[in-house]
Amino acid sequence: MFRKVHIRLTLLCAGITAVIMIIMSLCYLYVSETGLYRNQFQSFQNDINTITTNLEQQSVISMEWLSKMEAQGNYLFYVLDGGVPFLYNQLNDTPENSSRSLLLDECRNAYERIIEVDASSERNSSYASFHSEFRFVSQSTDVEYFGSVINMGQNASSLEIIVLSSLQTLEKQILEQRFHFILIDLAAILALTVFSWLFTGLLLKPIMENHQKQVQFVASASHELRTPLAVILSAAECCKNAPVQKQEGFLKTIHQEGLRMSSLVNDMLTLSGSDNQRFAVRPKPIELDTLLMNSYEAFDPLARDKSITLSISLPDKALPPCSADPERISQVISILLHNAISYTPEHGRIALSLSYKKEHFYLSVKDNGIGISDEDKKKIFDRFYRVEKARSTKEHFGLGLSIAYEIVKAHGGSIQVTDAEGGGSIFTVIL
Ligand code: ADP
Repeated sequence: MFRKVHIRLTLLCAGITAVIMIIMSLCYLYVSETGLYRNQFQSFQNDINTITTNLEQQSVISMEWLSKMEAQGNYLFYVLDGGVPFLYNQLNDTPENSSRSLLLDECRNAYERIIEVDASSERNSSYASFHSEFRFVSQSTDVEYFGSVINMGQNASSLEIIVLSSLQTLEKQILEQRFHFILIDLAAILALTVFSWLFTGLLLKPIMENHQKQVQFVASASHELRTPLAVILSAAECCKNAPVQKQEGFLKTIHQEGLRMSSLVNDMLTLSGSDNQRFAVRPKPIELDTLLMNSYEAFDPLARDKSITLSISLPDKALPPCSADPERISQVISILLHNAISYTPEHGRIALSLSYKKEHFYLSVKDNGIGISDEDKKKIFDRFYRVEKARSTKEHFGLGLSIAYEIVKAHGGSIQVTDAEGGGSIFTVIL
């Protein structure tokens, strides 16, 4: 399920950024290509102005001068004297000249069209010479040209000079630029896809872990609930057919298992509340030493029942009040004391203590019980984790420490476990 979501998110992420990048590239190409054409056209116009000035100053147009100009500017010149091709480029019947003649016709047609559109053309100007520049595509050669028609003099013997500049080099340059952009865009799209895959993977990781935990939680919870439920159902079945005097025993079992289920459901509700950020923590200034003393008094009889010595050590000096939820902190101490009593053999010792250092309260429960291996220390705060399921009693679901962890976390504190000297464990809550 998550793999599909991962792929979709990657495609979405990479797709959107790729589309934005392509649009930006196209805009850049448009601006750049328009600029290139405009610059080239301006430089063509400047050259035509220079040529026109030169022509005006010359009394005779020599072939040598025309050849020089053609070579300098990569231009094609056609000179028509009173409509007749000038000696320089006689349009005779050779194949090269026939294609030139075709090109010349196309240029003149384009010029005529422009002149028609532009009624205020310089054709009617009173100057001795005038010229117009334009852009056209030659159908015969399929090449785009800038063209200019220069008219010298206004009588029948006037000279008409047609200058053509092929845009092939510019088009090649533009094609190369487009090709480079396609390569860059493809490389960027590839890099974006890889980045999106890693990025969405990072985003999904905590969601996947959370989902996995939820699945595990539901599986463990169902498993834990099934046992008392099975006992209740079978006891109820037996109770139905049992004689009245035996029914009380079955009802007692049903009641006990019901209580067990209720305690488990309460634990699960506490944890689900913490998951949904609905963990009810109402901090207020409390005296932790008094709270610890109350817990000590509550658990002392339980410890005595198991011949365990429970001791308490409080600082001599009065402590500042601690901002915490008394109910929740009592719950944490109860969980720790309950575990200590459960996992400490008879005649063991449990010490409850409180200290205050550098504005932090250290609340610890130390026992000389079975201890916890380093491997298990990493897992005991996980939900439904029990070191040895067989050794745990029926009241132990593996939720106590995870509840304690959530409560301490909600207080902005921390909880840690270390080995006690000579065996056993020390659980310390820092607030
Ligand atoms: P449980 O309800 O099973 O005690 P907890 O979450 O409170 O669940 O504890 C998880 C596991 O950590 C326990 O099953 C037990 O194996 C281990 N544990 C907790 N406290 C102690 C302790 N004081 N000494 C040894 N093992 C402990």
